[in-house]
Amino acid sequence: MMVPVFRFAPSPNGELHLGHAYSALLNAKLAGERGGRVLLRIEDIDTARCTPEFEQGIYRDLGWLGIEWERPVRRQSDHFDVYVEALARLRSEGLVYPAFMSRGEIRAFVTGHEGDWPRDPDGAPLYPPLDRQASEATRRARLASGAPYSWRLDMGKAIAVVGGTEWTEFSASDVSAHEMIPAAPQRWGDVVIARSDVPTSYHLSVVVDDALQGITHVVRGRDLYEATSVQRVLQKLLGFKAPAYHHHRLILGPDGRKLSKSERSTGLRALREAGRTPEDIRAMLGF
Ligand code: GLU
Repeated sequence: MMVPVFRFAPSPNGELHLGHAYSALLNAKLAGERGGRVLLRIEDIDTARCTPEFEQGIYRDLGWLGIEWERPVRRQSDHFDVYVEALARLRSEGLVYPAFMSRGEIRAFVTGHEGDWPRDPDGAPLYPPLDRQASEATRRARLASGAPYSWRLDMGKAIAVVGGTEWTEFSASDVSAHEMIPAAPQRWGDVVIARSDVPTSYHLSVVVDDALQGITHVVRGRDLYEATSVQRVLQKLLGFKAPAYHHHRLILGPDGRKLSKSERSTGLRALREAGRTPEDIRAMLGF
């Protein structure tokens, strides 16, 4: 029988909070119930914001909560070469293009555009089509000029290649229950595949790592539900198997808003220092 493989994949760019604890505990609970493994992955491609101190904090807080994970831990910043290889494959198939517009330029384009310019599920304006439509000569000249650029997916082309896409959303309470969700990658437009400062992006490294680590079950917050559409397209383009997904409820702060890493009161370290025990945390989160 295939052993299910779960993963918890935090970014060390701040202290873990109750939302992370919920995600980690749910991964551990489901893996326990299904005879599965739990891997921990450190998602630190953002080398400017991620620090070794926050990474140590992740191990300390998870250990305190009583969560177990396998070693060695995969740290994304150790594997840029693997993501570069995946990017090269997309490049060789003409599925990505160099994108030169800064945030300010995108904003100016959108403001100058008549009518409502479409926005992605996170509320950001879709990337204007100018760079995608640029001639080969213009592209070459801009690359030669040394201007900073990122690589973006030609989403229209990608969708034409992969066709209709869906994903399996499984239930946390009933092992056999799941639903097929139609993906809507067109809503994201031409997403960033490799940033200008690092040779990968969140979407690319997640998809590559989930495949390389043999992840069968992705359990993560509802805030990443829409991102699954993009990740399914990348999996198909790169020939990767699709994990099944479960997007769990978000833990909200006292103000009813999503927790943020800068909010001290719900940080695991602050709660511990205030005398809360791991049992208190579990009880607060309904475990
Ligand atoms: N690293 C992401 C985060 O901390 C989670 C990625 C994922 O679970 O797919 O929000």
